[in-house]
Formats: sequence, C-alpha cells, structure tokens
Amino acid sequence: EAQRRRFLPAIARGEELWCQGYSEPEAGSDLAGLRTVAVRDGGGYRVSGQKIWTSLAGEADWCFVLARTDPGERRHRGLSFLLVPMDQPGRIEVRPIRQMSGTAEFNEVFFDGARAPHVVGGEGAGWRVAMGLLARERGVSTLVQQIGFAAELAAVIAAAVRGGAVRDPALREQLVRQWAELRVMRWNALRTLGAAGDPGAPSVAKLLWGGWHQRLGELAMRVRGAAAALGPVDWSAGAPYELDALQRLFLFTRADTLYGGSDEIQRNIIAERVLGLPRLER
Ligand SMILES: Cc1cc2nc3c(=O)[nH]c(=O)nc-3n(C[C@H](O)[C@H](O)[C@H](O)COP(=O)(O)OP(=O)(O)OC[C@H]3O[C@@H](n4cnc5c(N)ncnc54)[C@H](O)[C@@H]3O)c2cc1C
Repeated sequence: EAQRRRFLPAIARGEELWCQGYSEPEAGSDLAGLRTVAVRDGGGYRVSGQKIWTSLAGEADWCFVLARTDPGERRHRGLSFLLVPMDQPGRIEVRPIRQMSGTAEFNEVFFDGARAPHVVGGEGAGWRVAMGLLARERGVSTLVQQIGFAAELAAVIAAAVRGGAVRDPALREQLVRQWAELRVMRWNALRTLGAAGDPGAPSVAKLLWGGWHQRLGELAMRVRGAAAALGPVDWSAGAPYELDALQRLFLFTRADTLYGGSDEIQRNIIAERVLGLPRLER
C-alpha cells in the first residue's frame, strides 16, 4: 500500500517516467535466463548487471528491474522485481543504441552496485509480478493504445483521400477492413478487463494488435505509392533523417511483433497453456 501511495499518483500525472528493465543480451524471449543479480543492502538491494533494449532509459526517473536475488535458485525462481532510481551517476550508465534511422529510442543500461530501495511483492516474487505486468502490457493496456491507433488510421485515410488512393478499390477495401478490425480489437480489449485468470487472453490480444498495427504501417506505404520510398531532399545531411509521420509509422510497426514478447512466444503460450500441446525441445 505504501508503494501504491508513493508511486501511482506521480505515474498517473505523468510526473515520474519509468522504464522496463527485463531484457538482457542473452535473455529476451528466454527471460528466465537473465543474469542481473541483486544483493541485500540495509533495507534495500544493490543491483549489478546489464539490460538491453530499454526504451527511453535516458529519460526515465525510475526503472523496474527483474534481477536474481537468490543465486541458489534457477530459472523463474529466486527472481525479484526491484524499483531502481535512475539518477545514480557512477552506478548506472545508459548507452543509447543508435538505429538506421538515426534515432536512439532504446538503450543498453549497465548497473554497478546500483541502489534499489524497493522490492514489489516481496523477495522471490519477481516472476509473478513481471508476468502480471506483461499480461497488462499485452492485453488491457491496448485500450489506451487504441486511441493512438485510431488517430493513425485517420491519418492514413486522410492521406488516401488527399493523394487519390481512395479511388483504388483494393486499397479502399483494405482501409475499411482495417477500421472494422480496430472496432473488433476494442471490443475484445474491453472483454479482457473481465478475463482475469484466462491464460490465453493477453496473448490473443497481443497477436491481434501487433499484426493489425503492422498491417496499418504497410497500408500507409501503399496509400502513399512510390512517394513512400522518397527520403529527404538533401540526404547529405545524414541521420537522423526527416521522415514523415507515415514513414515513421511503417518503420516502427516492424517492431510490433517483437516487443512485449514476440508473436512466436505468444503462440507458444497459447499452445502449451491453453491447448495443452506438449512443450517443444528448446
Ligand atoms: C521497439 C522495442 C522496444 C523494446 N523495449 C524494451 C524495454 O523497454 N524493456 C525491455 O526489457 N525490453 C524491451 N524490448 C526487448 C523485447 O522484449 C525483446 O526484443 C523480445 O522479448 C525478444 O527478445 P530478443 O530480442 O532477445 O530476441 P530473441 O529472444 O533472441 O528471439 C529472436 C527470434 O527467435 C524467436 N524465438 C525465440 N525463442 C523462441 C521459441 N522458444 N519458440 C519460437 N520462436 C522463438 C523470436 O520470436 C524471435 O523471432 C524492446 C524491443 C523492441 C523491438
């Protein structure tokens, strides 16, 4: 309760920004293989290790870090969900990962004995807390995301009207199909609010919106036609390139089937936990 009072109001007001410290160089889909460790220190912990692909780590005030607190346990056991303040010079280093587009949204984050004053759910409960949070990211949180999706679809439709692509019957049909699917996704996301305990619900939602958003990016490029491939007038200026909103939409949506757990992992979860299929050799 004390953590709720301390952190939730500032999150809701957008005053404190957070980043997600799950993935590591050797632990992405296989998150339970993570190597970051934390040892008790006074009332809190000291964290050491490396995270990667940490979105907006350079802007975040706090990071929630999944780390091993019990070296005697393996895999999902012995992990804890720690809250780490990012402003710790000498103890936390954030290195931006520059992409082809010239932007650097995500980062490598190195922890060297960084202070973690809070543990969520108690020591050793990290996997349960992290999976609970991931289920929200894959499922219910899309209710908010869909406000953005609707605005992006409106921009694609406006570009189709402006550029004349609406006269192409095939593209026209795809625009309507995209709109109808967005409605279905919204109703489905609303249903997941009451589907706690259904192990497949977040994975179904993630598969739906990841694929839908990726198709929207592709449709945006088809609507623009050949002009979609055009870059800035003066390429010599180098990265970051001044791409327009639809080009950025297309490029970013390539990642939709990866972050938050890839499509393959969502299908594995459904196969094993819902359909009861035997686990494949890893
Ligand atoms: C835009 C973006 C933002 C991100 N932000 C964050 C963040 O803020 N914090 C954070 O912690 N992480 C973040 N990530 C990392 C993301 O969670 C991982 O990329 C994702 O979990 C996949 O892990 P990986 O990249 O190590 O790929 P890998 O796990 O190496 O997977 C590579 C490929 O193999 C497939 N694969 C792996 N295992 C299996 C299997 N058992 N069965 C079938 N196929 C399999 C995967 O589906 C994938 O196609 C972000 C990623 C992206 C793209």
